[in-house]
Amino acid sequence: MRFRSIRVRLTAWYLVMLALGLGLFGIGSWFAMRASAFDTIDEELEDRIRGVEKFMKLQIAALSPVEIRDEFREHSVLGPGGDLFQVCNEKGEWLYRSAVLESSQVPIRLPNQVGDRPFYENLTVQGTPIRFATARVIVNSHPYTIQVAAPLHEFTQALERFRLILWLAAPMLLIVAGLGGYWISRRALRPVDQITNAAESISIRSLSDRLEVPKTSDELQRLSETLNRMLNRLDTSVQRISQFTADASHELRAPVSLIRATAELAVQGVRSNAEYHEDMVQILAEAERTTRLIDSLLLLARADAGQGGLQLEPTNISTSVREAIEQGRVLAAEKAIDLAGDLSPAPIVVRGDGEALRRLFFILIDNAIKYSPERGRVQIHVEERNGHAAIKIADTGIGIAESDQSYIFDRFWRADKVRSRGMGGAGLGLSIARWIVDQHGGSIEVQSQSGKGSTFTVRIPLHNVAGG
Ligand code: ADP
Repeated sequence: MRFRSIRVRLTAWYLVMLALGLGLFGIGSWFAMRASAFDTIDEELEDRIRGVEKFMKLQIAALSPVEIRDEFREHSVLGPGGDLFQVCNEKGEWLYRSAVLESSQVPIRLPNQVGDRPFYENLTVQGTPIRFATARVIVNSHPYTIQVAAPLHEFTQALERFRLILWLAAPMLLIVAGLGGYWISRRALRPVDQITNAAESISIRSLSDRLEVPKTSDELQRLSETLNRMLNRLDTSVQRISQFTADASHELRAPVSLIRATAELAVQGVRSNAEYHEDMVQILAEAERTTRLIDSLLLLARADAGQGGLQLEPTNISTSVREAIEQGRVLAAEKAIDLAGDLSPAPIVVRGDGEALRRLFFILIDNAIKYSPERGRVQIHVEERNGHAAIKIADTGIGIAESDQSYIFDRFWRADKVRSRGMGGAGLGLSIARWIVDQHGGSIEVQSQSGKGSTFTVRIPLHNVAGG
């Protein structure tokens, strides 16, 4: 089975780690306990060897073998665990053998087989585990072997008890820890469920809803805040798209209604040829306006979708400005506006899209003419400054109130809705202009005074400075 829940996986990992830890701890402490018990026993056994050695050094010269045996017997009765010891000389002759060892014929090594430091081993005598310590001692220049022993049953029983406790305690501990771990991870991850449920309930219609942010200063708080920020961005984008669609439909309705009304009038009544012609001219003008509007909408929609990317290549920006001025000449002439360009003949090369730049400057020149009274003046100045091509388009028109200046680049924004629609604008020109400028890594700004005129300044980085 594949675990799907983080809770279960966390608990399982936690249990595996805990079981490993417990296992290592159990084995380690069992060995440590065993080693420390052997140390204690070995120390006691060595003490007994030294006791026997001391006794032999004191008595051996003065006593006969029989007397020595008696003395040993007496000594063995006095000493703790004393009934388990045997001594032999260098020829393997017994000086003393306690009854148990003699009856079970426990062998002993000759002095030359044993070192001065005790040698320890475990043997089973008559079914009982016993630990032996054997050492060579020199008494009156003669080597002897002393072997003492201690039964291990108490010690093995204690070890056995300890092992049993470990076997019983470990699973219980694991069960308790597993339940506890599951409970803790459930508690810790509950906010994730809440976030999931809340996120699930948010749809395109309720994008203004926000997730509750737990004030826990942890990853979950960060997750909720990040999701909320994402919702903010989505909300803003969706609002912009809805607004754009609504505005676009609204803008498209006006010319279509006009075309329809004009056509209906023409169809209903009997009209002279001149009147029909006038109707057709009006219908044509509205159709052209609609086409321009649809072009602009399409361009902005493509820009939003990240398409319609421009072909940037070394371009003489003066050429684009010149073409835009030429395009504006007819419009300027209609209003007897003095359209003057101040361009140096030397090329100013930027990394740009010539056609898009022409469109940009035409939007600005068109606006300058549109929003200037008859016999006004529109001046275009191009220069190279601080690694940029700087293009100024100044008019002596109606100007833009300071409070409006921050909105003019917004889509569908017009200072005077009625008037500028009459002039053919849908409020998209400057949005397109700003998009083109952004695509070139440049900037656009306006200086304007109501009633006096406006100056738009575009800056586009020069080709070599841009490193391209
Ligand atoms: P429009 O198609 O209405 O001209 P734009 O996006 O080009 O749309 O401009 C937005 C608004 O900014 C215009 O409706 C107008 O109110 C104002 N505006 C733009 N250029 C000028 C200018 N040179 N002089 C005065 N007002 C301007």
